[in-house]
Amino acid sequence: MPADGTLEAQQPPQPRLSIGRRLFYTHLLVALMVAFGLGAILHWSAESELRSGLDQRLADNAALVSSALAYSGDWEALRLPSDTARPEYVVLMQRMQAMISRSPALARVLVLRRDEDGLRAVGDSLGATAGFAPGDRLPAFSGGRPLAAIDASALDGGYQGFNVLAAAEGTDGRYRVALQIRVEDIDEKLQALRTHSSIAFVLAVLAALAMSAWLAQSARKVLRRFAERFREIAEGKVGQRLDLAGNDEFVDLAGAFEEMNARLQQSQRQREGALDDLRTARDRLEQMVRERSAELERLNDMLRGEIEQRCQLEAALAEAAATDSLTRLLNRRGMLEALEHTAEQARRQKSSFVVVIGDLDHFKQINDQHGHAVGDQVLMAFSRRIKQSLRDLDVAGRWGGEEFLLLWPGIGITEAEKRANQLREVIAAAPIYQGGPQVTVSLGIAEFTGLDSLDRCLNRADRALYRAKLEGRNRVCVSL
Ligand code: GH3
Ligand code: MG
Ligand code: MG
Repeated sequence: MPADGTLEAQQPPQPRLSIGRRLFYTHLLVALMVAFGLGAILHWSAESELRSGLDQRLADNAALVSSALAYSGDWEALRLPSDTARPEYVVLMQRMQAMISRSPALARVLVLRRDEDGLRAVGDSLGATAGFAPGDRLPAFSGGRPLAAIDASALDGGYQGFNVLAAAEGTDGRYRVALQIRVEDIDEKLQALRTHSSIAFVLAVLAALAMSAWLAQSARKVLRRFAERFREIAEGKVGQRLDLAGNDEFVDLAGAFEEMNARLQQSQRQREGALDDLRTARDRLEQMVRERSAELERLNDMLRGEIEQRCQLEAALAEAAATDSLTRLLNRRGMLEALEHTAEQARRQKSSFVVVIGDLDHFKQINDQHGHAVGDQVLMAFSRRIKQSLRDLDVAGRWGGEEFLLLWPGIGITEAEKRANQLREVIAAAPIYQGGPQVTVSLGIAEFTGLDSLDRCLNRADRALYRAKLEGRNRVCVSL
């Protein structure tokens, strides 16, 4: 919609007027105008030729008749209808009849006289009964008119049918001769002329139509070939060259067009070549990128493997660093970390946990009595027992020598004392392993509540253990 908001009027589709049709119509129009103009000129000149010939013939006839009648004054006696009996009348009639029979173009002759009271008939070749009788009054005629007139209306009403009026020779204009000349042949000629002109005109129109159609058809044919060629090129078909016969502007146009087409094809080929090069370079680049990516992927995998190995190694090292090699429990270092972690968790959760320090009683004696290897066996068996007693959240480790540390989160000191006594009793109940020595353990326990430091808590547990030793061993003492 335009900016002013008015709806744009729908344009009706333009009627198609092809070049062929335009050529046809313009050529036909020009040919018709020329044919019509030439025909009109030819017709007019032929007709005027005919008319002047006729006028001449009439004038000749009039002159011939007026001299042939050979006036000798005898017509003066013919003044009344009864004068038809007079010999002068008979002679006049005979002469007129003779003239008519000699000249087939002559149809009627009338002699008339100008008297004081007007024009009077003297003799009529038709006779007094059928025509005018002597003395009959005749209407006046216009004296200024030419003597010859092919058109009967040029004469007054009374002379209808007469087409020439001439002064009779030797009568000083007193007598006149009116002639009726047969002009049918002239009419026929005029008619024939009109017919021929019409036929010629129709033939000219037909020729113009044929010429126009041929011209339009030939132009249309050439234009159609151009259109076909354009379509071929638009569809990418090389096709046949537009070779037109002749030497006109269409041929020039076709030549220029084919030259342009050849240039276009050349630049198209160059473009396609450049595109091919580009495609090849792109493929090569993609291949290189693929190879480089695969290489990087391989290196990445290697690196990932190495990192994994390193991590595993580090984890193993860390585990080894925190594990006691004999008992497979956490060593002192691992326990210190576990202590820190459990204390931090308890502080965060505002909860408590119990620290238990267990020490095998008179272990030196076991070593001394059974040997160091048995001592080791005892340590390993004791560790297994501890592991069996652990819940999920509990942590246990070798605190040093024959001393062990246990962390019991989530229970109070009373329950811890109970559990410690259960452990102690289990140890004391039977040899530590089958066939092994009987051992006992003393345990000191203290609760970490977060109010105290870890060191002090450990000290309290240690002191409780010391007390258990002092009080006779194989017992549990709780730090107060
Ligand atoms: P108490 O009841 O007062 O604890 O007496 P005890 O003999 O157990 O304590 P003491 O500290 O006098 O002796 C501990 C002994 O434990 C000394 C040491 O040789 C021995 N021992 C420490 N570590 C090991 C070890 O890894 N293997 C063996 N077989 N013995 C060890
Ligand atoms: Mg000890
Ligand atoms: Mg001991």
